[in-house]
Amino acid sequence: MKGLHYIGNRQAKIREMEIPRPKPKEVLIEVTLSALCGSERNDYEQGCSFVSGHEFVGIVREAKNCRESKPGNRVAVNVIKGCGKCYYCRMGKSQFCESMIICQGGHAEYVCVPEECCLEIPEDVEDRAAVLLGGDTLGVAYRAVQKLPAGMGRVALVIGAGPIGLGAVSLLKYYGYYVVVWEMNPVRRKYALLTGADEAMDSVDLNSEQRIKELTNRLGADVVLECSGNPVGQKNALHAVRPEGTVVFCGENYKGLTIVPSEDIIHKEITLTGAFYFTGQDFYCLCELYRRGFEPGKAVSHIWNLAEAPLACKMFFEGKTGKVLLERKV
Ligand SMILES: [Zn+2]
Ligand SMILES: [Zn+2]
Repeated sequence: MKGLHYIGNRQAKIREMEIPRPKPKEVLIEVTLSALCGSERNDYEQGCSFVSGHEFVGIVREAKNCRESKPGNRVAVNVIKGCGKCYYCRMGKSQFCESMIICQGGHAEYVCVPEECCLEIPEDVEDRAAVLLGGDTLGVAYRAVQKLPAGMGRVALVIGAGPIGLGAVSLLKYYGYYVVVWEMNPVRRKYALLTGADEAMDSVDLNSEQRIKELTNRLGADVVLECSGNPVGQKNALHAVRPEGTVVFCGENYKGLTIVPSEDIIHKEITLTGAFYFTGQDFYCLCELYRRGFEPGKAVSHIWNLAEAPLACKMFFEGKTGKVLLERKV
């Protein structure tokens, strides 16, 4: 089979490789679509020994000693496999399991995953929608939006318009917010507007903070979704939110952040929380929104064939695209 290999030094190649064999309680999936994700940047820049790709859909071709999965099932995949026994696993929130592992390999023609990671795609949800409804672009944004007050008429600020930021824009618009995006990259500002943002401003523009004040009678943004993961963006989020507003950190930051609790949190009584990955339940809730008219594909700027993945990676990681899908007709 063909699979995408990040060989390091910002290069990717399509390689011929062995079709993986499913172990007991695993399924072999023939991948029809996978999505590039910003979290693969490290693998792309430094290279990795495995096939990347954690947002994908496909058709089950083999189900080894499985309880429910059958060949022919169309599935999306929740790639976080928990222990199955702890409190959070029993609640269906394996992303909080202390011994969770992440299954990858979606940027290939075939991949094996544990049966319990499969999310059967409802018949009325097509693959191009399912790969987004069952990926973290919308999944993280959906978890973030669940933590916010109702949208109608409120001003939401989205910081960072990478894939998750774009996913957030599309969901916030669906929920009735007025959405302002702060993003340094002009290409991504363009995609933010195409995804439905009401305004997209350069985050280093001194007027951007002023504009939020203008829109909110000088109060500040009602809600801020921080999707850049950059400490500067995270500080800006805490400054831009109004007293009693809500900030959700979606962008990962392992490097640290200096907060002045009195100024940033206590005196404004803000709610500060995070959003991490998604659950199977979130996927089916998103499918329900899709049935009611939510358009998941607005954040997608390019759909390439798997064979064109090296070019797709270059464009995506250079920040020249919105969300990118790799497609393969089977
Ligand atoms: Zn992802
Ligand atoms: Zn667990």
